[in-house]
Amino acid sequence: MKIAIIGSGFSGLSAAAYATKNGNEVHVFEKHDQAGGRARQFCTPQGYVFDMGPSWYWMPDIIERFFADFGYKQTDFFELVSLNPQFEMIFSDLKMNLPESLDDLKSLFEKIEPSAGKQLEKFMQSAKFKYEVGMQDFVNKPCHNWSEFISPKIAKSVLKFDLLYF
Ligand SMILES: Cc1cc2nc3c(=O)[nH]c(=O)nc-3n(C[C@H](O)[C@H](O)[C@H](O)COP(=O)(O)OP(=O)(O)OC[C@H]3O[C@@H](n4cnc5c(N)ncnc54)[C@H](O)[C@@H]3O)c2cc1C
Repeated sequence: MKIAIIGSGFSGLSAAAYATKNGNEVHVFEKHDQAGGRARQFCTPQGYVFDMGPSWYWMPDIIERFFADFGYKQTDFFELVSLNPQFEMIFSDLKMNLPESLDDLKSLFEKIEPSAGKQLEKFMQSAKFKYEVGMQDFVNKPCHNWSEFISPKIAKSVLKFDLLYF
């Protein structure tokens, strides 16, 4: 089958890869002169380079699974280097380096506002729970029917998910 895919961002390129793997003839059409969608770069003649979208390497498990579907590992293509500091925030009257370790980050939060470090720890635990349950019980389901999402585990987790806040 011939398949036309509009857009060469993450979605278009990954859809193209799966469609090609399934034996289709795939053509990707991109309106920009550069592939990558929001993950492309913009360079000025002066040599400044801007990421047009993603800077953080989020959800590494999804990327690892994508490569595994094609018989590869992420490390076959690129090396991940964790930066310390992770990044610098520049305000009009202040510059702040965000450290790599969670303990150092909590100390920084404490310095800015007493007990903010504890709140960060609480937030991270809640985010970890939501991510793990979200990936296992929501994102990776085929979504053919609402009944896929009915389970005692999900029912018990409703309050922890903050699903009932508007
Ligand atoms: C400022 C910003 C920061 C972000 N930071 C992060 C981050 O740190 N980490 C992270 O994981 N994610 C981040 N994201 C999200 C991430 O960039 C997007 O989720 C991801 O790039 C979306 O990919 P996509 O393929 O779905 O869409 P897009 O990347 O938008 O790709 C769509 C493509 O379709 C093309 N297109 C559209 N219409 C047509 C047409 N009619 N004909 C031909 N081509 C067409 C577009 O030119 C584009 O190339 C960020 C996004 C933004 C905007």
